Amino acid sequence: MKIVVMKFGGTSVEDAAAIQRTSEIVAGRRAKGLAPVVIVSAMSKVTDQLLAAANAAERGDGAGALAISARLRHRHLETARALLSGAALQDTSSWLEQQFQSLDDLLRGLAAVQELTPRTSDLVVSHGERLSSRIIAEFFAQRDLDGAHVDARACIVTDAQHGRAMPLELETEQNLARHVHPLLAQKKIPVLGGFIAATAEGITTTLGRGGSDFTGALVGRGLDASAIEIWTDVNGIMTTDPRVCADALRVKAISFEEAAELAYFGAKVLHPATILPAVQKNIPVWVLNSKNPENGGTLITAQAPHSRNPFKSIAIKRKLTIIDIVAGRMLMTHGYMRAIFEVFDRHKCPVDMVSTSEVSVSLTVDSNERLPQIAADLGKLADVKYEGRKALICMVGENIRGQSGIAAQVFTAIRHVNVRMISQGASEINMSFMLEESDVEEAVRALHAYFFQDPDPEIFDVAARDANAARLETAQKN
Ligand code: ASP
Ligand code: MG
Repeated sequence: MKIVVMKFGGTSVEDAAAIQRTSEIVAGRRAKGLAPVVIVSAMSKVTDQLLAAANAAERGDGAGALAISARLRHRHLETARALLSGAALQDTSSWLEQQFQSLDDLLRGLAAVQELTPRTSDLVVSHGERLSSRIIAEFFAQRDLDGAHVDARACIVTDAQHGRAMPLELETEQNLARHVHPLLAQKKIPVLGGFIAATAEGITTTLGRGGSDFTGALVGRGLDASAIEIWTDVNGIMTTDPRVCADALRVKAISFEEAAELAYFGAKVLHPATILPAVQKNIPVWVLNSKNPENGGTLITAQAPHSRNPFKSIAIKRKLTIIDIVAGRMLMTHGYMRAIFEVFDRHKCPVDMVSTSEVSVSLTVDSNERLPQIAADLGKLADVKYEGRKALICMVGENIRGQSGIAAQVFTAIRHVNVRMISQGASEINMSFMLEESDVEEAVRALHAYFFQDPDPEIFDVAARDANAARLETAQKN
């Protein structure tokens, strides 16, 4: 049995039409003889709205919280009505009513005590995936797909770090064997909500925002899947943001390591943590577009396929702040870096990039409201300056490993812009540099033009770009 884990994001299940499309995609995999296991997100924006309801309740605005819940109830019931009929519709509708009654009770309770713990917040937001997965499973069952709902909380076991819980591998694997395998043996299609999990004691937890990708990878690993498909609403990983650079190309194949670097540096296609469980078992991950299922997407594998271009993709991260720390008196002492990093640690502020000289350290962080306090604390150790509105360009590619002359090419391509800070990570597959936010788009276009003027057709979707250019040309002639 070749298992394929298919994860569908919020926009792939946003309404009845999207769920219908999703079911066609699943049916297509099954027709190829594969055994799909389906992981779904909450319907688009539902997690945000549940959080907003929880926050309103915490402020004591019970009426506001219940109004949000009422809109969600309406949306889910409407979707069920559009997809289901007969007894399935009746059962699902009354189940939905019950769920919303208990959600409303919960919100009223929160509004009464005006207190929201991470644990209760998880319980509130978990409704998104609990509802979507049940509706979708019912719909799969109704249309010739043998859908079977599995509560992900009975499968994914985590620690008790609410809002960002970490999975326990062994327990999760055992539960998947117990709850999912028998369904596959009966030729059913298990449907689970992503993002939600539970502690060993059965307390609901969540895996962090965007965590459904993580669920996909965990289930893929646990079931030893032959592939994991992340269905989203873009064509895959691109050579750069197409809004910045109109001739960005789809990257057909990329390594896990490259994809992880890109995800970290703000390419929003994939949750970086997705990478890990899949990497450990060498499971290929596909990023695919549910609104354009014929498109080949991006394949992510442990080993990088060879490309004649040095880079695979250029990512941009905006809204950064650079912090310059200069400490002449610390010259040649040890323990200095530790003291600096302790300050960031105390303020729970992650550092993106570091560059040092004998007497100075420059760091970049996401713009953060704690910066004045951080600077004040650092000021006890050294002279500190910080400056916002910076952006980072991160160029990723396995083929820069050990190649000389690449840096010279990069900085020649952008010789007209002022670069503030440079770093080539230990991974040797990325080159990052920081510049003014106002210069970043132009710099990316210059770099893209230089490094992708002759893209390797094995790695980049050159055909799509050519077809696009031809279309434009005819449009201009007419
Ligand atoms: N629904 C969750 C979120 O919006 C998880 C996910 O969609 O991946 O963050
Ligand atoms: Mg997502």
